[in-house]
Formats: sequence, structure tokens, C-alpha cells
Amino acid sequence: MGASEKTGRKLVTLHKGRERSIIKRHPWIFSSAIASVHGNPQSGDTVEILTQDGQWVARGAYSPQSKIRIRIWTYSERIEVGEEFFQNRLERAIGKRSNLLEAEDTNAYREVYAESDQIPGLIVDRYADVRVIQFLTVGAEKWRDVIVKNLFDRGDVSGIFERSDVKVRELEGMSKRAGLLAGSIPNNPIEIIESGHRFRVNIREGHKTGFYLDQRNNRKLFRKMAAHANVVLDCFSYTGAFSMLALEAGAGEVVAIDSSSSSLALAEQNIKLNDLSVERWEAVNDDVFRVLRAYRDRDKSFDLIVLDPPKFAATPSHVERATRGYKDINLLAIKLLRPEGILFTFSCSGGISAELFQKIVSGAALDAGKSVSILHWLDQPQDHPVKLNFPEGRYLKGLVCRVEENF
Ligand code: SAH
Repeated sequence: MGASEKTGRKLVTLHKGRERSIIKRHPWIFSSAIASVHGNPQSGDTVEILTQDGQWVARGAYSPQSKIRIRIWTYSERIEVGEEFFQNRLERAIGKRSNLLEAEDTNAYREVYAESDQIPGLIVDRYADVRVIQFLTVGAEKWRDVIVKNLFDRGDVSGIFERSDVKVRELEGMSKRAGLLAGSIPNNPIEIIESGHRFRVNIREGHKTGFYLDQRNNRKLFRKMAAHANVVLDCFSYTGAFSMLALEAGAGEVVAIDSSSSSLALAEQNIKLNDLSVERWEAVNDDVFRVLRAYRDRDKSFDLIVLDPPKFAATPSHVERATRGYKDINLLAIKLLRPEGILFTFSCSGGISAELFQKIVSGAALDAGKSVSILHWLDQPQDHPVKLNFPEGRYLKGLVCRVEENF
């Protein structure tokens, strides 16, 4: 009888030397690092991870279908994975945000950011008195009831809604799922406050968990810069957060482009909700690439443009195509900017590094024949922190550029 049968524990032994990444506290173990598995662990089960010579190194969730075969729960042998474990981790993650965000007149933010909060596979976003959550891995899924109970028993929300309707679940052998998990939520969009501004959010069907919470800090800077702009272009506007702030800052005219008519309809509601007139706002329900080319052909120009496209590179294999997409829209935008015009340009593709993104924008400026300066490098905010031992947690990057003169 092997050790695992005796103790009832499920054990995974690594190939020689493959504990190196764990010693550096990286939370993933790839299938190629694993020499043998004992105790027949099932999807999501907690396994003990041992070096080739039998030393205990970590405890993690086993995912038989994913190339990321194990995600680490703990590097400490004393810490068992159970109700108390999730209680502590959730308490810690949520506690960190409450201090941070009370001061910001904001009641919508990320409360749990997966690996960055040492709860791989779990996303919890707070929208006023509702939590919206995603279970992205079989490990997090296994503890779903414990997690939901904890998040509801805190007594600070009226309902919890699940938005695990995301493609990445397929990599873990799980199908998509969405629906009410606890309590109740309103039928209509929920109203939230971000940096003192009101927004309606459709948590049932909106993108991600409903709102791009990760742009909060960048929107603050955008609002400041929009105060000096006459004509503003909000590309990939979704529910109009950037548009609304430009109008609020006093921009003369704001054009929003999005291929989703329901997003633009909610954008209009958001503008009105903040007591702003929609007369200075034009919604263009079309493809950004097409509209930008048409503007170029008509010599239309802008003082401030924001490009906040969806993830062009969902996986590393799409990086080349994504690079072309980013280059195209940035080239067009740079051409459409008036002298001294400002470009806010973003990429939320994890596969496109900040360095590569800057190179792409640089190539676009060169092709546009313009001298361009970077004024700011932008990132995701504090509620989406990046652990030094898990740089993969960084996905959002942006540049604020000033288009100066022709080369
Ligand atoms: N800037 C927004 C978030 C943008 S999300 C905010 O701050 O809230 C990306 C948006 O791009 C989505 O609303 C999606 O409908 C839209 N979209 C995706 N591809 C598009 C395309 N080719 N043309 C126009 N809109 C597009």
C-alpha cells in the first residue's frame, strides 16, 4: 500500500527540480512538471505537492483537463483547505479594499482578484449592495457553496449573482453558467457610484461582470484632460463611461462609437443620470475600424481620442493578429488627432506585454508620420493588484500620448 492510500491523501510528485517555481511562490504547476499522481484525485480536489525526493512543498487544486494542472492554495503545510481557509482569505481580500476605496466615493470595485488574492479562479466584484462572482477554475468551483455562503453571510449585500458565463471555463472542462446564487437582485440595471459619478450597470448581461471597473483611475485622468478638449472621440464606448466624463468635464462635442446598440442605449441613460445634456453627444452604432477610416477620408479631426478595444488577443496564438488590430486603430486615431491632440490608448490582452504595446503604438505613430510623446503610462487600479510572484495578473495597460508635429 502506498503512502497516499494509507493517509487518504492525494499526492502529486514533481519531476526533479520542478519545485523551483513553487519556491519562488508562483501559483501554477503545469502538467509537464508532474512525474506521478497518487490517490486518484478528481477534478478540483486538493492535492499535496511533493518534490521528487518526497519533500512537501505546497497544497493546491487539481485540474485534470487543464495544462495548468494545479493552482496552489497554500505553501504552508499547517494550513488546511476548508471553510476556515476561505473565510480567512475572503476576509483579507475584502478588508484590503474597504480601507482603500471608502475615500474615493466609489461603491463598485473588485473585492477578490483570483491569484492576486491567493484564491485562484475566483473573481468577486462589488456593485453597491450586490456581489457578482465568477468561478473560473475547477478548484474554485469545488468550493462554490462555501464561498457563496461566506459572501452572503457577511450581511453586507442583498444578493449574489453568478457570471461564470466565460469561455476560459472550457479549458477546465466546465460549461458556462449564470444566475442568482443568493438573496435577490433588481431586474433593472443597478446604479453604482464611481469617483462620485453615477452609472447604471447591467450585471445580468453586461460585459465581464457588468462594468469595466479596471478603468477607474484612468477615467479620472481622462476627465482632467477632457476639460481642455473641444471635440472628443470615445471609441469602443460600451456604456459610455468615458463619454460621460468628457461631457461632464465640459467638452464641446463627444462622439461615441460602439457596435452594440444596447450598450449605447445604456450610455445615453448614464449621461442623463448625471444631469448632462445628450445634445453634445453623438452615438455611432458601427464598427470602429470602418468609422475611423471614414473620418480619415473626410478629414475629420479631434482633440482627444480614447481607444479602449475588447481583448484582441484572447490567447497567445492570437498575438500576431491582435498586433495588427492595435496598430490599425492607433494609426487611424493618430491621423485623426489635431496638433497637440491627446490619445488614450489601451490594451487589455494579457498576451500583449506593456513593452510590445508601446512598440505597436510607436510603429503606428511612425507610419502616421507624426512625432508623438508619451505623457503617462497607465495600468489597472489597486483593487486589481499584481503580485510580484504572479506577473500574469497584469493585463491592462495604456498610454496617454500627445501628437506633436509631423516628422
Ligand atoms: N470603454 C468602455 C469599455 C469598452 S469594452 C468603458 O470604459 O466602459 C469594448 C467595447 O467594444 C464593447 O462595448 C463592444 O461592444 C465594443 N466593440 C467590440 N468590437 C467593436 C468594433 N469592432 N467596433 C465597435 N465596437 C466594438
